[in-house]
Amino acid sequence: MTATADANTLPAHYIELTGLIREASTLGSVGSLLGWDQETYMPPAGGPARGEQAALIARLTHEMHTAPRVGELLSACESDADLMQEGTESAANIRAMRRDYDKATRLPGSLVAELARTGSEAQDIWKHARAKSDFSAFAPALTKMLDLTRRKAECLGIPEGGELYDALLDEYEPDARAAQIEQVFLPLRDRLSVFIADITANGTPPRVDFTRRAIPVGRQHAFGQAVLAALGFDFSAGRLDTSTHPFCSGISAGDTRLTTRYAEDNFADALSSTMHECGHGLYEQGLPKSGPHAGTPLAGSVSLGIHESQSRMWENFVGRSRPFWAWALPLANQHFDGALSDIDLDTMVRAMNTCTPSLIRVESDEPTYNLHVMIRFGLERSLIKGDLSVKDLPGAWNEQYRKLLGVEVPDDRRGCLQDVHWSFGLIGYFPTYSLGNIYAAQLWETINEQITDLDAQMARGEFGALLSWLRENIHRHGRRYSAQELCERATGKPLSADPLMRHLERRVKPAYGL
Ligand code: ZN
Repeated sequence: MTATADANTLPAHYIELTGLIREASTLGSVGSLLGWDQETYMPPAGGPARGEQAALIARLTHEMHTAPRVGELLSACESDADLMQEGTESAANIRAMRRDYDKATRLPGSLVAELARTGSEAQDIWKHARAKSDFSAFAPALTKMLDLTRRKAECLGIPEGGELYDALLDEYEPDARAAQIEQVFLPLRDRLSVFIADITANGTPPRVDFTRRAIPVGRQHAFGQAVLAALGFDFSAGRLDTSTHPFCSGISAGDTRLTTRYAEDNFADALSSTMHECGHGLYEQGLPKSGPHAGTPLAGSVSLGIHESQSRMWENFVGRSRPFWAWALPLANQHFDGALSDIDLDTMVRAMNTCTPSLIRVESDEPTYNLHVMIRFGLERSLIKGDLSVKDLPGAWNEQYRKLLGVEVPDDRRGCLQDVHWSFGLIGYFPTYSLGNIYAAQLWETINEQITDLDAQMARGEFGALLSWLRENIHRHGRRYSAQELCERATGKPLSADPLMRHLERRVKPAYGL
């Protein structure tokens, strides 16, 4: 459908509504560009002015999204039976716009401001408390943030049949419920814990020393760019830069920015970050951002869990596989001036599939990562419920690490003070990391059933069929379906953690000679 056809066939209230939402999202994309610049090229002295610019854009965007006219037009669209016909794009778009509008209008401005102010203070307190490993210094700020976050959840409203935590979760994984997630997580958690204990006790750790060889950053960057181009990242519609914390910003149609980070002595970590962000970027480049749905919810991503499934797929399912390295190892050698010429394919693949229980989530490997996430999910849910008090958090944290990962937490800096999330009220976000892995594994099994020679293709450096599958089954749908529906439509099965367990068994056991 062309824009002209739209104007001829769609009613005026729908055209005006999508026009207003499109304008708001255009202004939002200006904010994203400023945010990207702040993390990459902005001189340090630009900080205070950038803060004012960002706050102004955020306020104006919020005003545009919550304008009374948007509410009027939404009601008009909702009572238009043609637009609301089951299964149509307009119905899906209107439902998503309603959800966004209600969310944005339910929170009182005073609470939004208090959350922002207290969150920024608490983040500062957390930084100092973490440096001194002093949980008691952070506890009052965390208590305050939890109170405010609970108030926020109450304003947003408990979804039908759910709990207070679900109101928070819904912001990141719409329609998900903690109880459902728990049903998938709990069995996976127990199986993973046994799996990791078995590998630790009986496996022979792979050789990893060579992954710390010094490779000049410029060479790593050239290698990363070559990999991204082969995976299908469109450099005429995107770029790759560096930042302290890697991220992907899908700024607008034709403009997707990735960042990564390099350390001379850790090329594997840099490549993993680059491929992870590339997965986010390929999703952004595949969303229907231009055309009739530009700037409307249908052009957006479904959920953080689905977004993360795309990044994890390219980082882990592709990037730690033998076929990928059959192609990438010679390419790396070429870019690294032969620095890995004594390393054979077997040795390389094993080093990419380690399993070492550790204390820090962001440094953990593929199998242990999910346990870090599930521990946080359980604890933050209990904190919101009121089953766990802030003063008991360190003890509960340490006990979980002992029980599930078999490690002793020596201090709170390497324990419950390690993540920034809770300090500014980011609660309900953690489970989306593991949901991403679970979605990715389930999609991966279906992809391999449908593209039967995918391994052979990857070994030749061909990723086009894989990307086309993702474009067709995930990317092009934008927010048309919920995450669960999308996954079921693509795989024909309800969400299950079994594919992830099978994947880890297949990958990690051979690396440990089991
Ligand atoms: Zn990610």
